[in-house]
Amino acid sequence: MPNASLLVIYTGGTLGMVPSDAGLVPGHDIEARLRAALKTLPPASQASLPEFDVLEYPDPIDSSAATPADWQRLARNIAERYSNADDDYAGFVVLHGTDTLTWTASSLAFQLQGLDRAVVVTGSQLPLEADGSDAAGNVESALRFAALPGLQEVAVCFAGKLMRGVRTRKWHTHGFDGFASPNYPLLGEMVDGAPVLYPTRGLDVQQRGLPRFELPEYSALDGSAVVRIALWPGISAHLLAAWLLDDSVQGALLEVWGSGNIPENPEILGVLAQTTGEGKLLAAISQCPHGPVSIGTYAAGRGLLDAGVLSGDAMTPEAVMTKLVHLLAQPLSGAKKRQRFMTALVGER
Ligand code: ASP
Repeated sequence: MPNASLLVIYTGGTLGMVPSDAGLVPGHDIEARLRAALKTLPPASQASLPEFDVLEYPDPIDSSAATPADWQRLARNIAERYSNADDDYAGFVVLHGTDTLTWTASSLAFQLQGLDRAVVVTGSQLPLEADGSDAAGNVESALRFAALPGLQEVAVCFAGKLMRGVRTRKWHTHGFDGFASPNYPLLGEMVDGAPVLYPTRGLDVQQRGLPRFELPEYSALDGSAVVRIALWPGISAHLLAAWLLDDSVQGALLEVWGSGNIPENPEILGVLAQTTGEGKLLAAISQCPHGPVSIGTYAAGRGLLDAGVLSGDAMTPEAVMTKLVHLLAQPLSGAKKRQRFMTALVGER
């Protein structure tokens, strides 16, 4: 029987930050501070909060410093407390900086496939103790959603909206309604102070299957193994080659034009073909935040197909990058990696 309580894991971010001479820095002692902030909520909200324990990382960070090693540590920490007889929590809430929150949420989704309970990632635009802060409200909503047995995936909760983690993007630098899910509808919303899940949108009814966590070693991919290149008008083949043909690069996200177009430039297409010919994974999405690429609709996109570039459909950049890291970290054949990239593993495409 799973424990009825939730586990809140504090990784850092504005939510727990405190002022310093250099600006806001990650603070400590989060459990006492969080419980004090939740005491400021209206009595009805306080009464509806589920029980939770808190795990505070000893080294909370500004999430702008996060790397694949941080995604890996977090997934492993959740996995350890998921099926451990003494310690199996009913759900998890991750407190994270907003800057790279969607990267972490996406990576967790690929590592923790087949979740049968919720992992809800949240943060805030203002620290817990700041006047008018959004922190306590976001944590309240995240806890309420994480306690729902029907939520069985990695989700992002922010400003009362619940979004699929692997579909979410940071949308505003400082507005409270700071996240969006441009190509997938909301999983749920807080309505009149209560969490509401929209039926049929969650992985529980779509493709959850049995828990099948994949926790490969990411350390070899820290740094520059997967790169991200947004095309610009006039991009030159030699600059593209400098990145893609670098020995340390094993995969790349290409952000191309509109519905999947690139310049019909034989040198550029040659660099792309040489890159995939070396067994590297190349995937393309659009620079438009809304809508999928449909490579090959225009002659100007045909070259991507011929060069072996994979369609990223309507995936977010975060989902493509973390999926490439996840696939490259595993001992899969090139064909298997390409096939898994094109398959929806956790509702990311
Ligand atoms: N720089 C902060 C972070 O990502 C921003 C935030 O949390 O809102 O950790």
